[in-house]
Amino acid sequence: MLELEDALQRILTALPPPASERVALHEAAGRVLAENISSSVELPRFDNSAMDGYAVRAEDVEGATPEVPVCLRLRGKVAAGEMFAGEISHGECVRLFTGSPLPRGADAVVMQEDTRVDSAHPDEVLIRDAAKPWENVRRRGTDVTRGTMLAEAGTVLTAGRISLLAASGIIGIETGKRPRVGLLATGSELREAGQTLAPGQIYESNRIALATLVGRGGGIPQCFPLVPDTLAATQGALDAALSECDAVVTSGGVSVGEMDFVKTAFEQLGGELQFWKVAIRPGKPFVFGRCRGKFLFGLPGNPVSAFVTFLLLVRPALLRWQGGAEVALPAYPGVLAEPLANPGERRHYMRVRVDHTGRIFSAGAQASHALRSLAAANGLVAVSPQTMLAAGTTVPVLRWD
Ligand code: AMP
Ligand code: MG
Repeated sequence: MLELEDALQRILTALPPPASERVALHEAAGRVLAENISSSVELPRFDNSAMDGYAVRAEDVEGATPEVPVCLRLRGKVAAGEMFAGEISHGECVRLFTGSPLPRGADAVVMQEDTRVDSAHPDEVLIRDAAKPWENVRRRGTDVTRGTMLAEAGTVLTAGRISLLAASGIIGIETGKRPRVGLLATGSELREAGQTLAPGQIYESNRIALATLVGRGGGIPQCFPLVPDTLAATQGALDAALSECDAVVTSGGVSVGEMDFVKTAFEQLGGELQFWKVAIRPGKPFVFGRCRGKFLFGLPGNPVSAFVTFLLLVRPALLRWQGGAEVALPAYPGVLAEPLANPGERRHYMRVRVDHTGRIFSAGAQASHALRSLAAANGLVAVSPQTMLAAGTTVPVLRWD
């Protein structure tokens, strides 16, 4: 039985080098960037106003107060998107709006609220507050200079990063190719949602959960029909999924029972099992194999086991496949509000709920079929074998949503 770290290492080293493809920026959210992008422009592109107000020369409005305002001559108006033709000189101002380019000669903006215009003298502006040089001016190049790294290869593109790239005029980027992941659910007891259940049957719930996680990991999920527990059906389903997809994620049928056909079916198709069983709970019977340059991730059938092993072993693989640098679940520290105990022999990934202050509570029952606690959980805490983590202990919480 492998430790989780060894299992993950084996998986990551088995993957092919990432392939890349060009995508439009508006389709890039969640994709792994395959190139370093540095800026060829400055942001802001030009000195511009941070406020609706008046462009002034700071020295002209020194000492201005509501009681002793300074009167400036209004030279004109510059809307965002326009340029002021001339240059303002001593005693002059120009009406500006947020984003309006600063006229030449000006070095500050007085916000509109600190000014008055008497309708009898529309070309005069009373400035009722002083402005320091460059006050309310967003100076050219202060956010981004030419050559600034905008986004690094191997990172996942967030909405914020995409905003930065868009502002820099970037329209297309090179990203890691998304692996197509076939999803198979094995089990003769399983029925599709909407079907009537006979006694002893249950609704299948793994493919839909895993499809969501595959999509969030950047893969393209493809669900296949339910697979009854026979060797022939399992072989046929694996064969079809392997030929259509880059990887196949199965659930169920990897334990030690005589109704567990995934490993045998895979081997009879020519697949090579790389390892079986990982020293974690839930999810011990996880299996990984290769076949025709494709990969099998065989997850246990219990819904929590499938979910957790996906997060720990399949999600990192999908990210690395796309060139992702950081592939482990992000971990944030929290403080246990109650003890977490693992009397067992394997590391236990326990479902927890972290509140907004970082206090960690058990999400409920930890059995691998118990879904209410999975639904309530927003994190996992790894508890070592035969360990009691006392309330008050600071521990990393693995997050996925
Ligand atoms: P197995 O790993 O095939 O022995 O399945 C373990 C448990 O998980 C059994 O109770 C199965 O009924 C249940 N199970 C397996 N696959 C699914 C699935 N796709 N959806 C819901 N429950 C499942
Ligand atoms: Mg089964």
